[in-house]
Amino acid sequence: MFKLQELIRRDMDKLAKNITTEQGKTLKDAHGDVFRGLEVVEHSCGMATLQMGEYVPNVASGIDTYSVREPLGVCAGICPFNFPAMIPLWMFPVAVTCGNTFVLKPSEKDPGASIMLAELAIEAGLPPGVLNIVHGTNDIVNAICDDDDIRAISFVGSNTAGMHIYGRASAKGKRVQSNMGAKNHGIVMPDANKDATLNALLAAGFGAAGQRCMALSTIVFVGDSESWLNDLVERAKGLKVNAGIEPNADLGPVISKQAKERICRLVQSGVERGAKLLLDGRNVVVPGYEQGNFIGPTILTGVTADMECYKEEIFGPVLVCMKADSLEDALNIVNRNKYGNGASIFTTSGAVARKFQTEVEAGQVGINVPIPVPLPFFSFTGNKASFAGDLNFYGKAGVNFFTQIKTVTQQWKDLPSGSGVSLAMPTSQKL
Ligand code: NAD
Repeated sequence: MFKLQELIRRDMDKLAKNITTEQGKTLKDAHGDVFRGLEVVEHSCGMATLQMGEYVPNVASGIDTYSVREPLGVCAGICPFNFPAMIPLWMFPVAVTCGNTFVLKPSEKDPGASIMLAELAIEAGLPPGVLNIVHGTNDIVNAICDDDDIRAISFVGSNTAGMHIYGRASAKGKRVQSNMGAKNHGIVMPDANKDATLNALLAAGFGAAGQRCMALSTIVFVGDSESWLNDLVERAKGLKVNAGIEPNADLGPVISKQAKERICRLVQSGVERGAKLLLDGRNVVVPGYEQGNFIGPTILTGVTADMECYKEEIFGPVLVCMKADSLEDALNIVNRNKYGNGASIFTTSGAVARKFQTEVEAGQVGINVPIPVPLPFFSFTGNKASFAGDLNFYGKAGVNFFTQIKTVTQQWKDLPSGSGVSLAMPTSQKL
């Protein structure tokens, strides 16, 4: 892992360029994609303490019990398109460092970064057969779910695929950790720092063209903060939509024509149900890239909880805005949503922030932080419909996911002779 992290740093630009070319995000954002994965490789370098077992001497006279964490065997990972480097790196470094072999299925939409990372892993000295890549779509995924040799599956992607894989692989007795869709809310309190908040909302809503599972896709303006909407729209108009490879690009295209059509349909459904389109990026044309699947920053306001554009994850550069009269109302909106990946609040009040942190039902909470993804010594802790399984990705939970516990009870003492055979269940008194 030390060597792998060195090689990833060496090839950072190459990896980022591949991601931009295949996935479309800006080069700067693609560097971030690699960097957030690299952090997991670095974390894996120091993982030994997390693999330590437990030991109790003298559970009975002359008898000690200890536990060790052992690898599971063959594990597998199934990846989405939106982070072609970070998500494979959430998976295989942890699995392999725990002593497992790994079968990685990258997204069929942008598998290049996975291949490059596997080549680096081989160069770093990973023995043949430890990391394997298979390409494909549903049939290959189903084969992974059904394979008797595979003991655990890490999945990241949509709820449709995630719940299918969770059900099918669990029924075969496998461990599954499944990180899925999201609808992350940002609550804006009237006392927030206006300038910093607006910048945070733009970055978290439109960065990566909204194709992040931790994008802040819904804003709940509390009280007078709604008057900031005009400024938000003006700032959004200043963002540059362009091919990710162009140096001035703030946001690149979405992943496919189908994705663009779906996003446009969801925006239109909001308009038809009475939401107001303050900024419409659906018809943006980028000179030189006229066939690109671009959507410019789009802002819908007056959105209500029953609208499809609110209930569905849009996964595009669309901010859906709602209004609440108080923090309680805003919390009710967030907590009634089925997803629980992340939620953030923008405020200068410690008391408000504390109440939010305590009462919000989201797994990753931001206080004046728009995308609160923790570093890998914590875990990625989405909850509710955003996660299925018991053990989260990376951190201590990640190590627990990729290991199983064995307990050993040993006796080293001079046994009294002539004490006879006892067929009764051993107890600590009689051992
Ligand atoms: P996706 O579910 O379409 O694809 C993910 C993987 O599942 C791919 O490898 C694909 O080949 C496979 N797959 C898709 N449909 C399948 C099916 N019916 N049967 C078997 N396998 C299937 O997801 P995507 O569009 O690539 O990624 C976007 C989604 O991922 C969004 O919902 C986003 O929120 C989510 N995501 C979640 C997190 C998180 O940590 N919670 C992180 C990144 C992305």
